[in-house]
Amino acid sequence: MSKNIDWSKLGFAYMKTDLRYVSKWKDGKWDDGQLVEDNKLAISESSTALHYGQQCFEGLKVYRTKDGKIQLFRPDENAKRLNNSCRRVMMPDMPVEKFIDACVQVVKANADYVPPYGTGATLYLRPFVIGVGDNLGVKPAPEYLFVVFCVPVGPYFKGGMTPVNFTISEYDRAAPYGTGAAKVGGNYAASMYPHKLAVEKGYADCIYLDPLTHTRIEEVGAANFFGITKDDKFITPKSPSILPSITKYSLMYLAKEYLGMEVEERDVLVDNLDEFKEAGACGTAAVITPIGGIEYKGKLHVFHSEKEVGPITKKLYNTLYGIQFGDVEAPAGWIVEVK
Ligand SMILES: *Cc1c(COP(=O)(O)O)cnc(C)c1O
Repeated sequence: MSKNIDWSKLGFAYMKTDLRYVSKWKDGKWDDGQLVEDNKLAISESSTALHYGQQCFEGLKVYRTKDGKIQLFRPDENAKRLNNSCRRVMMPDMPVEKFIDACVQVVKANADYVPPYGTGATLYLRPFVIGVGDNLGVKPAPEYLFVVFCVPVGPYFKGGMTPVNFTISEYDRAAPYGTGAAKVGGNYAASMYPHKLAVEKGYADCIYLDPLTHTRIEEVGAANFFGITKDDKFITPKSPSILPSITKYSLMYLAKEYLGMEVEERDVLVDNLDEFKEAGACGTAAVITPIGGIEYKGKLHVFHSEKEVGPITKKLYNTLYGIQFGDVEAPAGWIVEVK
């Protein structure tokens, strides 16, 4: 029985769905976890997650295929990244199998919220770990909660894929050897003000340069950057303060193996944008947001066009989108079907 939802009207907004998964870590181990109806968490007022930002999160989507199947895209990669984030802020590991099982349980329990094929809408999963329990000093929490909830979300591009413009920020989202490579909340709190300034100037979001020298492109808002050179190479920046995007690594694989392109992870200088004929931002939310232009020191550098999506960007997008919705054959191990 499908829910009474107008799938075409969905944006990216919270909606309470039927059940969520909660597991608690105490005395050195995770409990068995369970599905619960209540979407409120009762935690100590002294929880480290509230005071010291001891927490991390993930985001992944659930796709409905043409023949009605439900599938996850590379959830093992999200599990591994969650564990990297956990270690960086001294939280316990979550076994990969337990992470995937929790996602599958939540999807099955809320299967009526998985949007139909063809709407472009998906079910978004938000796994997270927070430090809880009574504590006062700056130290790891005595207890942790791992939660996975889900929300149906609309397609990122409602009227088709269109390029947008970005501006270079003077602010940093993370320090050179700080927590930039971990999906921890503090990085996102740090990004809200620069984002607001960028929007006020008329841009979709801001681009962050490397925090040490402010000469190299790192992140595009909460997405990774890639450029296509004039000789058709797929280039993406390499840095310890970039959050490793699963979409980005998937596109690198597809560029090489499906489209026969050369792929390089290396410095991208903000003073050398001329080397690219196309550019984009990539992440789970949009797959690819084509970059029309980048504003830097008062000048707008336009790549392919401010109005049209470049052909290679379009091809990369169609390939990955097709794999996620089951229309293009996926590399082995990328798809987990929920039965
Ligand atoms: C989550 C995130 C991304 C995108 O990662 P995906 O795994 O592709 O969704 C990129 N940059 C930042 C800062 C992020 O938080």
